[in-house]
Amino acid sequence: KDKLDEGLKKSKSDFFGKLSKAVAGKSKVDESVLDDLEEILVSSDVGITTTIKIINRIEARVAKNKYLGTDELNLILREEIAGLLSESENGELESLELPESKKPYVIMVVGVNGVGKTTTIGKLAKHYKLKGKKVVLGAGDTFRAAAVEQLQIWADRVGVPIVKQKMGSDPASVAFDTVQSAIKQNADIVILDTAGRLHNKVNLMNELIKIKRVMQKVIPNIPDEVLLVLDGSTGQNAFEQAKQFTAATQVTALAITKLDGTAKGGVVIGISDQFKIPVKYIGVGEGIDDLQIFNKYEFVDSFFS
Ligand code: GDP
Repeated sequence: KDKLDEGLKKSKSDFFGKLSKAVAGKSKVDESVLDDLEEILVSSDVGITTTIKIINRIEARVAKNKYLGTDELNLILREEIAGLLSESENGELESLELPESKKPYVIMVVGVNGVGKTTTIGKLAKHYKLKGKKVVLGAGDTFRAAAVEQLQIWADRVGVPIVKQKMGSDPASVAFDTVQSAIKQNADIVILDTAGRLHNKVNLMNELIKIKRVMQKVIPNIPDEVLLVLDGSTGQNAFEQAKQFTAATQVTALAITKLDGTAKGGVVIGISDQFKIPVKYIGVGEGIDDLQIFNKYEFVDSFFS
């Protein structure tokens, strides 16, 4: 929580600096305050659609209460934004349980290179290992040698097995091997890395479909979770990636990384609202423990207080 507070300081000071300028010398929320607010939200990377939604809601409040004070604006914004955020049900990483009936629980991790996919996998692996769970990693990004090496480094660091094949091999085959190996080892959880090439949408889609289809030969209905990792400091790029990946596969949860030290924390608000996919994890640093379960109230507090 402290790290999130610290991390969002830039978003916060940016946001509040502008907001207090916008309301300076004004006691009530009027057209011009709303115009300024709109600009501030857009420039904080909340995104146009979500910004308009927020503005409309505040306008509706102004319509009901003509003398809505600017001093109330903070509180109202907090309420409206918390209302837009979706989150998974658990509040704490510690309380994250794996469903008993799903063993191994299979998480397929997707996202563009560089967003923090490998790091997030490493952090999750450590978390589950600490909870006494048996974790198996799958090196499904067979396109880049560095990806396999990086994942191997994390596997060694955490002390969990990794299933890999040589570079250029079929990612679906790696996925198949990983799930089979997990069953053999009586593992609780599989975390499968995938390649993050976006240059060809059809390829991306076909690859993800094939991985699923082949894995399902081992266990029907897996993956249990498709986790899309997005870099929270990349603003509109993160939106674009969310659009492309949700079109290519059914994403069930989001991990938003690099929220430490970004001025673009607003991206969490827009993405969560627009894609209606729960933000499950947030990355707040490069270290192995810098992963948190997303809690919308904590997030809004860090942003607004
Ligand atoms: P991948 O290509 O998506 O697998 O990305 P990596 O996991 O290799 O991460 C890319 C870079 O981002 C590395 O330098 C990581 O240390 C860094 N990184 C990952 N997550 C975070 C985070 O939450 N905060 C910060 N500050 N850096 C991160």
